[in-house]
Amino acid sequence: NKFVAVKGHINGAPAESDFEIKSETIFLSLKGKEVEVIIKNLYVSVDPYQLNRMKTQSSSQAAISFATAITPGHAIDTYGVGRVVVSERADLEKGELVVGLLTWGEYTLAEPGRLLNKLDPMGQDLPHHVGALGFSGLTAYGGFYKVCKPKKGESVFVSAASGSVGSLVGQYAKLFGCRVVGCAGSQKKVELLKEKLGFDDAFNYKEETDLKSALKRYFPDGMDIYFDNVGGKMLEAAVANMKQFGRVAMCGVISEYTGSSKRAALDMLDVVYKRITIQGFLAADYMKCYADFMKTTTDHLRAGKIHSLCDISHGVDSIPRAFIGLFSGDNIGKKIVQIADQ
Ligand code: NDP
Repeated sequence: NKFVAVKGHINGAPAESDFEIKSETIFLSLKGKEVEVIIKNLYVSVDPYQLNRMKTQSSSQAAISFATAITPGHAIDTYGVGRVVVSERADLEKGELVVGLLTWGEYTLAEPGRLLNKLDPMGQDLPHHVGALGFSGLTAYGGFYKVCKPKKGESVFVSAASGSVGSLVGQYAKLFGCRVVGCAGSQKKVELLKEKLGFDDAFNYKEETDLKSALKRYFPDGMDIYFDNVGGKMLEAAVANMKQFGRVAMCGVISEYTGSSKRAALDMLDVVYKRITIQGFLAADYMKCYADFMKTTTDHLRAGKIHSLCDISHGVDSIPRAFIGLFSGDNIGKKIVQIADQ
């Protein structure tokens, strides 16, 4: 079993030299082992939040309660789709497709109780079950409908809008009847947002010297909703451009994960006077919406009303590069690594 591990804790921007490809011999028999199921990994996710789990335990963002810290030298958990090779679990049989907590490697050796569910692909390609129909989708769905509490006709701003979560938020918001503007890090991404994903407008934040006035151009009357994926200066600029009673959904602050950009310094008096709600959330908070989310999103995908963007690399060796690329905007849509054919 070939798998990716970190050599030590990573407290800044990740580099390929921080990772190693390890291999171990596994026995396809479970007797006397602490492993209950062996999964052949097919598609695994790479996610920005994993960097926070790679930091030193003592640093303020490490060992965040929703996800355990990643231990150097050990297999790294991730969301993904795979096929059961051996199982002693009553609900899973050899040959079945599963979705859940896999690892960055060829096989997942699953201990009892690990989050693994049988997967019915419902006619959708498997990568979509890692992205739009997986955790990114639930994040976008719960974050937009439940945290942003949108009303028809409201104005919505989305950052990292061509990414996995952002591209879905923008599309849900358009289908809901909002006016949507997104920002992304290249002209190619800006065109994709406007021409393929139906955003009303979009801009390249890297070309703007003054983000506050850039947002004023796109929202002359202010914005009702900001779906924040990036934090930092963009969050400061968005808060300055919120309308009264505006809502900010704090999904993530990727610009702050590597420690190379300043954290957001919000004008809290502005927040008070404009009665702005700023709410952090985790996708897992919205598991109760799971059935609604799956039905709505598969219907939209089938009807061609939502595009599920997947950006796929191949092979275990490509995982570190795919992960690092998230922090320099290499990906368009959900970054996934294909490990094996079905
Ligand atoms: P994406 O697919 O959006 O990939 C990350 C993107 O972020 C990059 O493509 C890049 O696009 C952008 N980016 C990277 N560095 C910076 C920077 N310094 N400033 C601005 N933009 C940057 O990832 P996800 O959709 O998986 O995640 C998006 C956000 O949502 C992250 O913050 C993540 O941690 C969070 N998240 C939160 C969850 C929750 O439960 N709350 C669940 C899943 C994700 P560009 O070219 O535009 O710069």
